[in-house]
Amino acid sequence: MTARWARPLCLLGLCVGPLAMAGAEIRIVNGDGSGQGLGDRSGATPVGGNPGTAVGEQRLIASQYAAALWSATLGNRVPIAVHVQFPDLDCSGGTAVLGSAGPTLLYDGDRYPAALANERAGRDLDPGREEIEARFNARVGRPDCAVTAWYTGLDNVAPPGSTDLASVFLHELAHGLGFIRSSMAFRDRARDATSGLLLSQLGAADFDAAVRRPMGVSWSGPVVRATKDSFLDSTDGVLHLPDGGAFAVARARFSPARVSVTAPLMLAQDADGGTGSDACMPIAPAAGALVLAERRLRTDGGLLCLVSQRALNAQAAGAAGLLIRSGVPGGGPVSYTGDAGTEVNIPVWGVSFDDGAALEQALDAGALSVLVDGEGRRAGENLAGDVLLYTPSAYAEGSSVGHWDSSASPDLLMEPNINPRLPRDLDLTPAALADLGWSPPSGLSIGATTLGPDFSDGRPPQFIVHVVNRGATPATGVVLDANPDPKLALVSTGLDCPTGLPCALGDLPPGAVRTATARYAIRSGQPGSVAVEFRISGGDPAPRLQDATTRVVASRASGCSTTGSGPGGAFALVCVAAWARRRVARAAQVGVSAVSAAFLLRRRSMKYAAPTPTS
Ligand SMILES: [Zn+2]
Repeated sequence: MTARWARPLCLLGLCVGPLAMAGAEIRIVNGDGSGQGLGDRSGATPVGGNPGTAVGEQRLIASQYAAALWSATLGNRVPIAVHVQFPDLDCSGGTAVLGSAGPTLLYDGDRYPAALANERAGRDLDPGREEIEARFNARVGRPDCAVTAWYTGLDNVAPPGSTDLASVFLHELAHGLGFIRSSMAFRDRARDATSGLLLSQLGAADFDAAVRRPMGVSWSGPVVRATKDSFLDSTDGVLHLPDGGAFAVARARFSPARVSVTAPLMLAQDADGGTGSDACMPIAPAAGALVLAERRLRTDGGLLCLVSQRALNAQAAGAAGLLIRSGVPGGGPVSYTGDAGTEVNIPVWGVSFDDGAALEQALDAGALSVLVDGEGRRAGENLAGDVLLYTPSAYAEGSSVGHWDSSASPDLLMEPNINPRLPRDLDLTPAALADLGWSPPSGLSIGATTLGPDFSDGRPPQFIVHVVNRGATPATGVVLDANPDPKLALVSTGLDCPTGLPCALGDLPPGAVRTATARYAIRSGQPGSVAVEFRISGGDPAPRLQDATTRVVASRASGCSTTGSGPGGAFALVCVAAWARRRVARAAQVGVSAVSAAFLLRRRSMKYAAPTPTS
C-alpha cells in the first residue's frame, strides 16, 4: 500500500494497525441474578490459585480463566461474549449433567456459529447479542446431588470426588465456538463410513442411522488428521483374519498395552460343562489360545460379572489373550475400564457385536488362527486412521455425534464425559476448530479478560492473562508486559508472575501455558471503564505481531443488584429493561439454543453404567 492511499483509508477509519489486529477478549457475561449462581455470596476459601472469597465469585473466576485461555489459544480478532448461568440441572440416577452450551445463533444456513461468523466478517454482526450461551449445574455439590462437587481451583488438580469447573468451562466453550453437531460446518467435517458421505450430505433417515453406528462416523478435517498422532496413543489393536480381513479391537485400559498375539481363536467354554460362553465362571483349558467371550448382560441391563473377572478366568485357563464381544446389538468395540488390580497380565480387547458374531460363525466353520496387532491403531481412530466421533448404538441426546469417541486415549477435552487432569493445551480441540474455519496461532500467543466481578470503588480492576505456546518448538526467554490506561497503577501480580510486570516467564515448551493475574488501583476520578493492553514483549521465536498483544476493558459495576428507591432503584429499572430486551431477542432463537450439547459426568460406579457398560 502506498502512502498516497494510506491516508484516505485512515481517514475512513479503515487503518489496520497493530492494536486493531490484536487478539480480542472472550468475555463472561453474568446471567445470574444477585445471590445465586455466579452471584452466590456464600463464603468460600480461596483454593488452587482462585482468589475468590465467595462461591459465585470463584465460579466466575474459573470461567474467566477458561475464557482467557480459549482467547489465547484461538487468537480471535473479534470479541466474543459468553452468557453464563448456573441453574439447577439434572442430577439423578448416579449421574449429573455438568453443563451445556451452544451458539446463540447460526449464520449462513445454520453453517457458522455466531462467534465464527463474526470472525469471518471481521466484526460483530449482532452487537446486542452474546455469541455463546452456557449453563452449568448449580446442584453440583449440594446434598441432593452427591455425585460430585465443583472444584474451582485454577491449578487443574481437582481432588477425587470433585469435578474441575475450569475444565468443564473449556469443554462447553468449545461447543459454543463450533464443536457442535447442529452446525453445518461441523457436519461438513464428519464422515459416515458406510456411505462415504459427509453428515451434511445425508438425508434425515440416513443421518439417523449413521449416528447410531459405533465407529461409524469420523472427523475428515485435514488439521485434525495432521495433528492426532501427537496426541493419541497407538495402544488399540487391529485383529487380522487369515483371509486379509481386519476388525478394530479396543484395549481394556486395565490390561497390558502394546502386546500382540498370534493364536488360535477359541470360544469360551464353561469348565463345568455348561453352555455359557461369557467366561464369568472358570473356563475349560485354553492354553495358548485367544479366548472369545460373549459379554452378556442381565435382562435388566446389569452386569453378569466384571470384565476383569472374565480376564482372570481366561488367564487361569492358560489363555494368551481375551476378546470380549459387545453385549449390545450394534455395539462397537468397548475399551473396558475399571480397577482390575495388578493380577491381569494377559491382553484384553473389546470387539464389536457384529465382528464378534462373524468370528463365532467362522469358528463354527472350522479352526481359525488370528493375529491381534496391539499397536495397530491409535486409541480413538478408525481403521482408516481418522479420529472417531461418539456415536453409540443407543443414541444419547446432547452427547452423540458432537464429541470425540470415548475410546480415545489419553482422554480428550471433547469426550462426552469429564475426565480428570485434562491438559491445558486443549489437545485436539484447537485443530478441530481450525478445520471448522478458525485460524489458531502457530506460535506464542496471548489472551486475557477481567478477573472477578466488575470493579467499583471498593473493588479494584483485576485481570487474568495467559501466554501459550502453540508452536511445535520450545519458545525461550518469554516476557510478559502490560501497557495500562494512564488512570491505572499496578498494585500486585500473581500466579506465574508474583513480582510485578514486566515478568520473565522463561522457556515455554510446545503446548505450555503460563498464567498471570494483575491488580490495579485507579489513580483518580471514577472512570466508567479502564483498559489494559497485555503483550508478549520478549520470546524466541517471537510471536506474530497480531498474536503478541491483547486489549482488555474492565467496566465499573452498574449497580444492577441494587433495589429500592433512589438512584439505585432507577439503575435497577434500567438494567431490568435491558435484560428483558435481550431475553426477547434470544427467545427467537429457541431452535438454536435447543441444540446445546450436554456434558455428562463420567459414571463413577461402573456397575451402574448401563446402557453402555465399560466394565
Ligand atoms: Zn459436551
